[in-house]
Order: sequence, then structure tokens, then C-alpha cells
Amino acid sequence: MNLSEEQLQFVFHLRQAGITDRDVMKVMETTPRDVFLEGIFRDRAYEDRPLPISCGQTISQPSTVARMTEALELNKRCKVLEIGTGSGYQAAILAPLVRRVYTVERHPALAKAADKLLTGLGYTNITVITGDGSHGLPAQAPFDRIIMTAAAEDPPAVLLNQLKDGGIMVLPVGQSDTVQNLIKVIKTNGRFEYKELGEVRFVPLLGGIAKDPAA
Ligand code: SAM
Repeated sequence: MNLSEEQLQFVFHLRQAGITDRDVMKVMETTPRDVFLEGIFRDRAYEDRPLPISCGQTISQPSTVARMTEALELNKRCKVLEIGTGSGYQAAILAPLVRRVYTVERHPALAKAADKLLTGLGYTNITVITGDGSHGLPAQAPFDRIIMTAAAEDPPAVLLNQLKDGGIMVLPVGQSDTVQNLIKVIKTNGRFEYKELGEVRFVPLLGGIAKDPAA
């Protein structure tokens, strides 16, 4: 595969951010980010920055997407729950590495657009659900892995309860709206071990389903 100058820079930034997992690097290299963006932001898709998407939300910074994906220690048997579909990019990064991805988004317009885009791109193991992810997804629980791409003040107990024993959850935690701590939670024999992975910036986890303006 021939990478453009921009894509080579993109890979360089991921390596600089300390991403070493080969499978994660490969999926980051081979998943186009521009298709998850609109208008002028498409031209900036391979910058290592969060960028605006519709409904006032953001697509996460690629090095953060890679860091969270790596921290999940995925394998092909994993059933994964993502809270915060946004553009669908993180779900597209997870999908080739696991058995199934369930991704929940509170903005109906974003969920609908991500579902259409991911289906059009040929992903067959991603289910996009419109809903309030702070309740998790009881109908499909328990999960091998859970990733939250919106920040909570504490790891939500509901989600910890939907994590399988031996499972891993990665999420931004903090009281600030601007800077939070990325946390990895490992569940073993019903007990939780917490590891801090450094600072991140995410939009907050909000309750309820958003009322998007009619399209
Ligand atoms: N993972 C996304 C991507 O790859 O584009 C980026 C997610 S963006 C940083 C956070 C998303 O979480 C927003 O789309 C926001 O609407 C969503 N969100 C916030 N609270 C939520 C909740 N309770 N349930 C589901 N989605 C939520």
C-alpha cells in the first residue's frame, strides 16, 4: 500500500505517541479517517488532532484512538461495547480486531449517519444503536471489552457490571470538562484494578437521548 506524505506523517505521530501494537498500527494505517469527516475538515483528517463533526461533537485525536485501542488488548473473540459512536471512526478501528462491536450514540443524527457510512464501507460486525450509553446495553451484556469515548466523573457502576470477568474497560475519567485521566479498568474475580494512562480531552458523557433538529 502506498501511503501519501500526510499518511506517513500520521503513522509517524502514532509511533511518537508510543503505539507499538502491530495490529493496532496496521488498522490505523489502513482505515481512512477522511471519510468520517465532512467539508473543510476532510483535508485535515491525517493531522493528529480531534476535529469537529456534526451535532457539536468531535472525532477523537488519532493517537488517543490508537492508545485506547491498544489498552483494550483486543482479540478476535472479543465482544466490545463502545459508548459514544460520534463519527463511527473508533468503531471502524475496533471492528477488524474483534468479533463484534456494539456502539451507542445519544445523538440520533450521528448514529444514523455512522450506521449508513459503516454499512457502506462494508463493515458487517458493527451494530450502531441510538440510546443513552450511560445505561450500557443490558440486552447484549456482558462484554469482553468496554470503551467510553465521552468522559464521566467516575467509571459508571452500570458499565462495570456489564463487563465480563477477565474483561477490560478503557475510559476518560475526571471532573473537568476539558482535561481528564485515561483509565484502564481490569476486572478479575469480581474485583477491579485501575491503571492511569495519562491525560486526555473528551466531551462529557451526557444523559438522555439528544433532540437533534429534523434533517
Ligand atoms: N468515538 C467517536 C468517533 O470515533 O468519532 C468520538 C466520540 S465523541 C468524542 C463523544 C461522543 O459521545 C459524542 O458523539 C457524544 O454525543 C457521545 N455521548 C455523550 N454522552 C453519551 C451517552 N450518554 N450515550 C451515548 N453517547 C454519548
